[in-house]
Amino acid sequence: MKLTVVGCSGSFPSADSACSSYLVEADGYRLLLDMGNGALGELQRHCGLYDLDAVALSHLHSDHCVDMCAYFVARYYRHEGGRCGRIPVYGPEGTERRLTVAYGDTPSDSAMSEVFDFHDLSRTSRFDLGPFAVRAVEVAHPVTAYAFRVEHRESGKVLVYSGDTGPSAALDELATGADLFLCEASFTHGKEDIPDLHLTGREAGECARRAGTGRLVLTHVPPWTDPQINLRDAKDVFGGPVELARPAGVYEI
Ligand SMILES: [Zn+2]
Ligand SMILES: [Zn+2]
Repeated sequence: MKLTVVGCSGSFPSADSACSSYLVEADGYRLLLDMGNGALGELQRHCGLYDLDAVALSHLHSDHCVDMCAYFVARYYRHEGGRCGRIPVYGPEGTERRLTVAYGDTPSDSAMSEVFDFHDLSRTSRFDLGPFAVRAVEVAHPVTAYAFRVEHRESGKVLVYSGDTGPSAALDELATGADLFLCEASFTHGKEDIPDLHLTGREAGECARRAGTGRLVLTHVPPWTDPQINLRDAKDVFGGPVELARPAGVYEI
């Protein structure tokens, strides 16, 4: 299983990175986790525009989903070969409606469904996508938000992605034994303390320690935050390897 960081900036894009988007590949299958601001452009550095097999959206904050509007254009109005077929899109309840409203001028209220096959995560928490067994759990955020556990069935290797969340027992459980834990670290210990919103670097490290994960990769650090402080704080509490996600970073899991 291969993970490529398409974008890792938190809350809004930075000069160096698009917002959250992560490409997970195995056996020729391509699953994209989130498609935040700027991700569609960056994605094309890593695979063809029409090479995605499925998309899973952790939640409907724009820094995780808004480039799905641009991707709708690319699939619906494709110049060569005509309109694209549907690919599965998993997201919170109301994903289709939200993207349709965000786009603002779709040819019909159901146009998005002509190129995306929407699945509601409140009804489906475990599903198979190509070679992957995926599990979603609700985490602690002001809007309905999910973390994902992606297991490559053949090798048993596991990637867990936190999405956006404050400290969460459900995330601790989901991340248990993950080979790679891609965890948000938006806040800085001692500086920001708002319940059920984001993790600090320290809290991300504590979660990884409790869950007994392998490599911890910190992501979703906003441009106004010093990532080195969050990295240091995570290292202080997690005994395993920790690093900062970077655009175009590739991990073999
Ligand atoms: Zn976010
Ligand atoms: Zn969010």
